[in-house]
Amino acid sequence: DVPRIYVITPTYARLVQKAELTRLSHTFLHVPQLHWIVVEDAPQQTQLVSDFLSASGLTYTHLNKLTPKERKLQEGDPNWLKPRGAEQRNEGLRWLRWMGSTVHGKEAAALEEAVVYFADDDNTYSLQLFEEMRYTYRVSVWPVGLVGGMKFERPVVEDGKVVRFHTGWRPNRPFPIDMAGFAVSLRLVLTNKEALFDGDAQMGFLESSFLQHLVTMDDLEPKADLCTKVLVWHTRTEKPKMKREEALLKQGMGSDPDVEV
Ligand code: UDP
Ligand code: MN
Repeated sequence: DVPRIYVITPTYARLVQKAELTRLSHTFLHVPQLHWIVVEDAPQQTQLVSDFLSASGLTYTHLNKLTPKERKLQEGDPNWLKPRGAEQRNEGLRWLRWMGSTVHGKEAAALEEAVVYFADDDNTYSLQLFEEMRYTYRVSVWPVGLVGGMKFERPVVEDGKVVRFHTGWRPNRPFPIDMAGFAVSLRLVLTNKEALFDGDAQMGFLESSFLQHLVTMDDLEPKADLCTKVLVWHTRTEKPKMKREEALLKQGMGSDPDVEV
């Protein structure tokens, strides 16, 4: 078998959640040997996500971890104020470490060559991306489209090595790389138990807070034709406007709440 890919996805309840998860699952259904770790930002696992996953046809693990209130963005806060999804990604990492400590023999050997990727629920992923990351010795990197107020950000490669980063903002951050722009070998995750995301990290330093425990720039493995191809896009979904719904609701004619959207 080819190396397994563990994908960790933080997700939270909102009007577009099921649509996002549907789109994402349809991508993942095309990827061999993918294990989806879905971590809800919620006090309990919800019925919507439970039902969705069991009907998805994917191999998955369903977890939940509520972001503490003081770390959560409030309505109207600018979205750069606090990192999103940090607690959930850490919960996924904790599950992987627990799982890694319980297996033996052939299954343990399979984990040796597996890879971990953090896939937000709203981005757009090409199938080729997963084949690029599948063989990762330490940390693979590649460009991310439509991110950071740019057409793309990417590691700049010279003589097969990452020498710097093409980014519009603070290029001297330890790893000025979006969450969607790297994958880590599971072996590295399992042997460096202290590597977690710092939910209090300054804006733009969340990825660095994790990667700093694992590698130096010298170790990065450039993928996607030496980082010349964009295979993932940091798309964002518009928040649906509910003006009509609210007007109808006032007249007692809101959409049937028993219909799952
Ligand atoms: N997320 C979450 N809880 C939140 C906000 C976001 O779990 O309160 C998840 C979200 O579903 C996504 C990831 O964290 O998978 C990144 O969030 P978002 O896409 O809103 O961040 P942005 O694209 O603005 O960086
Ligand atoms: Mn997003």
